[in-house]
Amino acid sequence: MSDEQPSVPVFCDDCGTTTRVPLDDVGEAIERHNDQLHDGEEVAQVDPDIADHLADLVVDDLGLLDEE
Ligand SMILES: [Zn+2]
Repeated sequence: MSDEQPSVPVFCDDCGTTTRVPLDDVGEAIERHNDQLHDGEEVAQVDPDIADHLADLVVDDLGLLDEE
């Protein structure tokens, strides 16, 4: 049993940093980072490999892959 939030690495090419952010906050964290540090440009983003994996997780979570 665990209700721990999975965290997601957010990579910023410009800053050269990777920050782990709770899944729930990731959209907001990226927006805030880009807003404050990059004039709203979309520089920081979820690591593409992870984003792929996350999509799988979300699909799994929604049970879309369940077969009857
Ligand atoms: Zn940055």
